[in-house]
Amino acid sequence: MARKALLTIDDSPSTETEKLVDYLADNNIPAILFVRGALMEKNPCAIEYAIKRGIIIGNHSFAHKPAGEMEPQEWADDLELCEHLIEAAYRRCDIEREAKYYRFPYIDRGDGQKVEQIDKATLSENDKTQTLQDYLHEQHFYQPFRKMPRTYPKRAYDCLYTYTARDWMLNDKHRGKQPIKSREDLIARAASDPSLQNELHPHILLLHDQDGMVDDAIALIEWFRVEGFEFLDFG
Ligand SMILES: [Zn+2]
Repeated sequence: MARKALLTIDDSPSTETEKLVDYLADNNIPAILFVRGALMEKNPCAIEYAIKRGIIIGNHSFAHKPAGEMEPQEWADDLELCEHLIEAAYRRCDIEREAKYYRFPYIDRGDGQKVEQIDKATLSENDKTQTLQDYLHEQHFYQPFRKMPRTYPKRAYDCLYTYTARDWMLNDKHRGKQPIKSREDLIARAASDPSLQNELHPHILLLHDQDGMVDDAIALIEWFRVEGFEFLDFG
């Protein structure tokens, strides 16, 4: 049985978004790009290019601040700023936006925890995280995974993940200063991760689109392909 993967990519756009989009579209790999509004405002063309090539655009906030450091209203206003940019981009492309997806910056869902691995963390359902989830629900955001990993929290309306590649360690800012120092390290970590051996449930992969590391992200996606992972559709 082939292992299955859902590809989600955070922090678009970068200076190399078009290159990443071309790789994904040319190889028929379904993906969601979670965009940061503040970056998209400066470079809307990269996201419109992605939309035209069939990539799904998700909301990753405007300012990329942890939700745990914001009041619910401030958090919602920030989310809506990014929403307006995404809606405008789909309109300019004259392509219908099929669904609304949201990923919290740092996977801080409002309680100040930065969730590194959903399999290993208990996701708190305190009043504030519940308020933010209620808002997502009311605004018709939902998680985009038809087939869910067993560990996915119930009644979650945001997009979580099961494997974070830590490819951001290779961006221009962090390269050489983090445990993952090379493309080889990035691939070796995935190759040795026992959770990725599971064939029963799809793996939700979290990669990044940041300056200086897009070639490494593409190399890692290619590694998953060569390993025989099947990339699933969303929705
Ligand atoms: Zn991010």
